[in-house]
Amino acid sequence: MLNRTLIDPQAFATQAETLQGTVSLQDLDKRTWSPDIADTATDIHYAITGGMDRWQRLFLDLTVSGSLKLNCQRCMQPTEFLLDEQVRIILFHREQDLDDAMIVDEELEGMVLENELDVFTLLEDQILMALPISPKHDQCGNNHLDKINQDKPNPFAVLAGLKKS
Ligand SMILES: [Zn+2]
Repeated sequence: MLNRTLIDPQAFATQAETLQGTVSLQDLDKRTWSPDIADTATDIHYAITGGMDRWQRLFLDLTVSGSLKLNCQRCMQPTEFLLDEQVRIILFHREQDLDDAMIVDEELEGMVLENELDVFTLLEDQILMALPISPKHDQCGNNHLDKINQDKPNPFAVLAGLKKS
């Protein structure tokens, strides 16, 4: 496990700071290693930008992306899942303010300000929310065919070979 990256969310947002990096899924908490994940040696790219919205609320904009290999729940072969999440997390000073804001806006993502915030915990939460509950190919077997076609640049040569034999 890597050293965790801690930020002071209030200062980060107030000073409109930016942080970006790449972390392997392997180095994140095991709770993100869903049994559906075929390969945990996958890079996750992230970026966090702080700021203040037009209602003078501090926020953190978080972007998480990566290409995950998940086991298809139908054929158990890997399927690619493109993780590409963007979320604005509004920071509140009091629990009550967060509750009030969520009543007005059900879609709102928010948290109560802490002195220290673990960036990787944020990432882990986003990854967990983004993972499909039951990943499946659109059409099982198609992936496999695509791959074969790509490996053989000239399908006619293959056909000719088949005719000969
Ligand atoms: Zn499948």
